[in-house]
Amino acid sequence: MNVSFPIDINQVKGFLSPAEGETLAWAARVACQQHPALEVGSYCGKSTLYLAHGCRVNNSVVFAVDHHEGSEEHQPGEQYHDAALFDQQYQRMDSFREFKANISKAGYNDTVVPIVAPSTLAAKHWRTPLGLVFIDGGHSEEAASNDFDNWAKHLVEGGLLLIHDLFPDPKDGGQAPINLWRRALATNLYKKVTISETLGVLVRTNT
Ligand code: SAH
Ligand code: MG
Repeated sequence: MNVSFPIDINQVKGFLSPAEGETLAWAARVACQQHPALEVGSYCGKSTLYLAHGCRVNNSVVFAVDHHEGSEEHQPGEQYHDAALFDQQYQRMDSFREFKANISKAGYNDTVVPIVAPSTLAAKHWRTPLGLVFIDGGHSEEAASNDFDNWAKHLVEGGLLLIHDLFPDPKDGGQAPINLWRRALATNLYKKVTISETLGVLVRTNT
């Protein structure tokens, strides 16, 4: 699949490889023919744009949930802090300005629905069935597990559950995402479709 954008997607700040991006776009194209996609963890919009690319083919949309105040590792002094995203006036991280600019420059305002809120709050009254759920928000055990509990249940049969940052070896990264992956498989409600680098794809089965 040729996933191209009117902007250089590699210049969009984020934590996603081109191959993982292509997988997101493919997944949204196959899974969002009747239903929308929802992602937790948009940051500056890189994954959002790939998902939106696949959604647009179906005239569908992607709900992009992020409080835009950064995860633990984005805070000042932490490994992935980006000073350019720090709001000096309010003394906190704010990736929303950058996010909006990127979605707009890429021409995807008609496909992306930003939800600027903590994931658990956004989920509170959610009722819409989802064709795809992409989990890439907070990477603490608690945050990851809340995201799974709150969002995966809205997947339709045949819907895709995508989990980012799967590191089988703890030396390579945190274990919360891969623990989710294992937990999802253990329910027998999901089957593995593929793993693209650190991005895992599961399908919601009919059992
Ligand atoms: N998918 C992005 C990277 C996401 S980084 C990409 O393609 O580059 C993780 C994001 O999750 C951060 O922007 C952070 O603000 C958000 N986040 C962390 N915990 C959250 C929570 N509880 N609710 C909403 N967003 C959260
Ligand atoms: Mg990630």
